[in-house]
Amino acid sequence: MSVPESLFFFLDPNRCIGCESCVQACSECDTHKGHSMIHLERVNRYESPQTIPVVCMHCDSPTCAEVCPADAIKRTEDGVVQTARKPRCIACSNCVLACPFGVPKMNTDYELMMKCDMCYDRTSEGKRPMCATVCPSQALFFGTHAEIQALRPRSRSLNTFQFGRQTIHTKVQMMVPREAPVMHIDVAAAWHDPQGEDEQDDPMLSAALFELPVLSN
Ligand code: SF4
Ligand code: SF4
Repeated sequence: MSVPESLFFFLDPNRCIGCESCVQACSECDTHKGHSMIHLERVNRYESPQTIPVVCMHCDSPTCAEVCPADAIKRTEDGVVQTARKPRCIACSNCVLACPFGVPKMNTDYELMMKCDMCYDRTSEGKRPMCATVCPSQALFFGTHAEIQALRPRSRSLNTFQFGRQTIHTKVQMMVPREAPVMHIDVAAAWHDPQGEDEQDDPMLSAALFELPVLSN
């Protein structure tokens, strides 16, 4: 079985109300033993209640798999990047450090990297991922492009992101306002010295300037 070609996972952070239904639903899945593979992040707890559900974006060329020395992370032909295979994973955390979206987590109890596999047992049969079945605001939506366009005429989907010099295409689609400008975000800025004196010549910081999202699909 494989995920039907017409069906996509759409992520619309603007619609997230932080109810954590997705986290609870994900943690009830037997395939990952009570652990939620979806993470709810806060944009800025002091300034806004806005939350963002974080799932694996299922990259076309997954960085997590490229840096894995044990070849433990496989991508299926239909583009779903699977969680690490237990017999192969050596718990080195390379993938945790390398993923540009901050998705994989190291489970030290199992000495195993665990991450979202888009509920492959369900989506490969055309069913919605668990999180998408419970999300009350449809911030997590599984369906066709035609369905999401009918539901969100003022939004568009994109699946191309730029991190420094790395361009990443993903299977998961991010919904953004149709007229939203391209944004370049320097996520390394928080590391900089407020006086702005030291970082200019620091090659490590210079190499860590990320930009997202950039292009539409
Ligand atoms: S989002 Fe991260 S964990 Fe998911 S496929 Fe891409 S690199 Fe791997
Ligand atoms: S933690 Fe496991 S899956 Fe991740 S890179 Fe290391 S061996 Fe591969």
